[in-house]
Amino acid sequence: MDKLINGKEVSKKIREELKKEIESFPRKPSLVVIQVGNDSASEIYVKNKEKAALEIGIDFKHIKYEENVKEEEIINKIKELNDNDDIDGILVQLPLPKHLNETKIINTIDPNKDVDGLTITNMGKLMNKMDGLVSCTPLGVIELLKAYNVEIKGKHVIIVGRSNLVGKPLIHLFLNNDATVTVCHSKTENLSEYTKQADILVVAVGKKNLITRDMVKKDAVVIDVGINREDGKIYGDVYYLDVFDKVSLITPVPGGVGPMTVTMLFKNVIKSYKNKITSK
Ligand code: NDP
Repeated sequence: MDKLINGKEVSKKIREELKKEIESFPRKPSLVVIQVGNDSASEIYVKNKEKAALEIGIDFKHIKYEENVKEEEIINKIKELNDNDDIDGILVQLPLPKHLNETKIINTIDPNKDVDGLTITNMGKLMNKMDGLVSCTPLGVIELLKAYNVEIKGKHVIIVGRSNLVGKPLIHLFLNNDATVTVCHSKTENLSEYTKQADILVVAVGKKNLITRDMVKKDAVVIDVGINREDGKIYGDVYYLDVFDKVSLITPVPGGVGPMTVTMLFKNVIKSYKNKITSK
């Protein structure tokens, strides 16, 4: 089992450290999660975040709107939260219903409280190698690789998926760590010709078993971000059992990247809290 990248374990260790750090603060850091509608996956994600936040001592507030809420109402709420000094982090649970302008809503969040790292300001800071808040899942991927002493510098990293949430921030995180980066997406021709070249392969697509044994290089490090629900079970994008004995390290799904995403969210809330204290 020493091929396993155990996100649960790494995450547990980091959360224990964060909990200790929070205990030394004069007040609890606070996170507000805004949810719209009843998307079943979002319900699970928000509940998981709440449970884990309370466990480590982060104040958690959940604001939930009906599916047909007006955009203006959300925008006004975010502005109110931006102005509230007791709030450190604001997160809008995605996806939003189609009638809402996701870009506009996200970019209403004060970049200093944007703990999902999705505002144009924080994306721009990442591109420019400036200190800011970085998207949680990509941050979790890098932390996992570091926890397992995987050398990134000079390695050929192939990222499959180019979303704002995962693929795009990862491009810059890997570049900032001196990797050579190739990005693939739905229009990429001959995907396997690329994936086979990867020293580190990161897959964030949302298609069960997209990556099979013939598509990976021997001894590659494989990070599976995908979450695919089928008959009450969760699967990744990588056909885990098929590739397992060919690769050197691999994340399971569940128990790999998922727990790290929530942990990095808390790390961002604490960062935002500390930035506020030091800027006073
Ligand atoms: P998106 O749907 O926003 O993006 C998917 C990406 O995959 C797109 O760039 C798309 O290309 C690309 N793609 C689609 N089909 C193919 C294909 N056949 N070959 C190559 N590329 C393809 O998803 P997200 O980035 O938000 O999430 C990706 C996966 O990761 C999902 O399963 C999601 O549930 C999971 N996830 C897991 C998290 C965790 O904590 N573990 C956190 C966030 C997401 P194009 O741009 O051309 O459309």
